[in-house]
Amino acid sequence: MTKTRKPLLKYRRVVIKIGSALLVDRATGLKKAWLDAMCTDIANLKAKGVEVLVVSSGAIALGRSVLNVPAGALKLEESQAAAAVGQIALARAWSESLSTDAIVAGQVLLTLGDTEERRRYLNARATINQLLKLGAVPIINENDTVATTEIRYGDNDRLAARVATMVGADLLVLLSDIDGLYTAPPHLDPNARFLETIAEITPEIEAMAGGAASELSRGGMRTKIDAGKIATTAGCAMIIASGKPNHPLAAIEEGARSSWFAPSGSPVTARKTWIAGQLLPAGTLSVDAGAEEALRSGKSLLPAGVRDVTGSFSRGDTIAILGTSGREIARGLAGYDADEARQIAGKKSAEIAAILGYAGRAAMVHRDDMVMTGKRAQEEGSRKDEVHA
Ligand code: GLU
Repeated sequence: MTKTRKPLLKYRRVVIKIGSALLVDRATGLKKAWLDAMCTDIANLKAKGVEVLVVSSGAIALGRSVLNVPAGALKLEESQAAAAVGQIALARAWSESLSTDAIVAGQVLLTLGDTEERRRYLNARATINQLLKLGAVPIINENDTVATTEIRYGDNDRLAARVATMVGADLLVLLSDIDGLYTAPPHLDPNARFLETIAEITPEIEAMAGGAASELSRGGMRTKIDAGKIATTAGCAMIIASGKPNHPLAAIEEGARSSWFAPSGSPVTARKTWIAGQLLPAGTLSVDAGAEEALRSGKSLLPAGVRDVTGSFSRGDTIAILGTSGREIARGLAGYDADEARQIAGKKSAEIAAILGYAGRAAMVHRDDMVMTGKRAQEEGSRKDEVHA
């Protein structure tokens, strides 16, 4: 097989996500030699003018190692305590390793609300941008010590994608023990083919991320494809590559096997990027075929085209819009509270005032508050948008 080099130097701002197993060995703790080599790769990119952000896992794994917690599942408070111990060690290790290349590290711990609530999102973005402006490398992780099951990302793949879109990065690199995307789990299916380039994340590509029977689907490939959707919709390319060799970034540049996901050619505005990447939509609206076509041609969603409403949401919350196939086709900010939406679903706009007792707005979801997220989105729904990072 010919090697395809993927030059990282052509990118301007790169987010690198590093999985726990790369940094931490269960028996011996931190893999210092690997980390030092990684930091040299980062220093090389920075020396060529590329801005680098790191999303580093490993707090819980390192905490377990420091505290000698035996193997096996942890209760929430145990993993929170392990993270408290491990995050200090992790941040120190990054800071020390980067300092040998004269690079300053800045620790950023995020919770779900920091990217899901607009005001906090803008605040976190400003802080990270300032770190980059000062030449520091942000070392980012979820704040596992305070995150609870209901309000956490749970995986750093999607966190890294949210960070990448938040700061307008043009490349996200996911490093773990998986070297890329296959048509089926390679250890289970001898006919599995490796995919070098993914032009668009279609339903077929999503299916490759594995159903229930797949080992890789458990927090492995599934979350990586989710991350890919968040990143590419915002115009950010993504690479999945193995981080196992020392100097994994240099290895990618030299043509080590990796999967490259093309960014959308017509990325959406920064505000729509935020809407599209919301991890927890508060509800859903199912629409009929006519409304689906209207949305695809860039129109607003009117109450008449809504067949079903689920969830409890307030006006302004992010909701998912499902097409006739039941798949998500768009996301948007609700124009009505869920109770009102249920009352006016399927009704003509002229009837709304009589039902609700006030005139209301014409649209259930206005086109300015909506972004196409399903297949064909890149071709049609977002073509009029431009990037305003
Ligand atoms: N935030 C977790 C940790 O640092 C890791 C989550 C993940 O690896 O996806 O331990």
